[in-house]
Amino acid sequence: GATIGILGGGQLGRMLSVAASRLGFKTCIFEPGEDCPASHVAHRHIAAPYDNEDALRTFAEACDVITYEFENIPTSALDILEKLRPVYPDRQALRVSQDRLVEKAFLNDLGLKTAPFAAVDDGNDISEAMAEIGLPAILKTRRFGYDGKGQVRLKDPKKAEAALADMQGAPAIYEGFVDFSHEVSVIAARNAAGDVSAFDPGQNVHEDGILRTTTIPAKLSPAQRSDAVLLAAQILNKLDYVGVMGVELFVTADGLIVNEIAPRVHNSGHWTQNGCTVDQFEQHIRAVAGWPLGDGKRHSNVVMENLIGDDMDRVPELARDGSCALHLYGKAEVKPGRKMGHVNRVTGPA
Ligand code: ATP
Ligand code: MG
Ligand code: MG
Repeated sequence: GATIGILGGGQLGRMLSVAASRLGFKTCIFEPGEDCPASHVAHRHIAAPYDNEDALRTFAEACDVITYEFENIPTSALDILEKLRPVYPDRQALRVSQDRLVEKAFLNDLGLKTAPFAAVDDGNDISEAMAEIGLPAILKTRRFGYDGKGQVRLKDPKKAEAALADMQGAPAIYEGFVDFSHEVSVIAARNAAGDVSAFDPGQNVHEDGILRTTTIPAKLSPAQRSDAVLLAAQILNKLDYVGVMGVELFVTADGLIVNEIAPRVHNSGHWTQNGCTVDQFEQHIRAVAGWPLGDGKRHSNVVMENLIGDDMDRVPELARDGSCALHLYGKAEVKPGRKMGHVNRVTGPA
């Protein structure tokens, strides 16, 4: 059978690996860490840093197609891999999603709304951004941020310089604070034939910058729901995208505003494991393997809750609850803020 290569060995790589196995594929994980969630379930694990060219070549040669669970794949690694095997989603999707500035410009070019933004490299830039965009605002590193890391909220102009210092010289982006009523996301898939399938939007609640819950269905009017799905399809088509993408949206009185896109399976799509016949992980594997997409229609309403740090203490109780499906990542050490698993509570038929 064919082998699917996955860059990154966290929980997303683990769940992709399980989905691939279910379809009869083998998986090979590339991840520097020895003991990682995906290595427990994959057929093969190559433990090497992303700049080890020989290991990257060995990995590519062991696979028929390559995908990834995180968007910060170094370009140098991509250069090696894509000469040997197809990599999906491709370089363009990575380029657009690795840098918040490039991402927002891309979205605006498509006619989609984002927060007002400006590039900030020094104290002069931040004063200009503040004058132009105003406060409150958020200063974010352009690259490598996740779970709200690398972000500072700004209310007081006197604290702007300190916020910039927090970025430690990394290129940053100044974003006007969006006055949203709630947050939703669309998880959508596209295959090489150009078929697109979107799951129903979920409503997301964040706590301390980390996703806490996703609730399906989201609070959206029929018009907002179709806007959300159509704009996601527009992004996928523009990128000639192959795979699953997560599109995070702010719901405001002036319509939907795109926060960010993730060129991969997404935490806010975990509910699909127990709400849909074909979940986001299988959908992604189908897309990168050149299969037809499954039907993204949901059969159940679900509340997905992340189990973060000490939330693991609730597992025995959750395990006794017949409406809950547990998904645990097999991480050895519990740490505050670490995603240890999630629970999908089925709340009724769709
Ligand atoms: P993720 O783990 O989703 O990749 P991230 O670290 O990339 O997160 P963002 O999604 O940019 O961070 O921001 C995290 C959260 O902070 C958002 O979901 C939203 O609640 C809030 N937020 C981010 N940008 C803005 C903004 N411009 N206006 C208002 N709230 C914002
Ligand atoms: Mg992000
Ligand atoms: Mg986000």
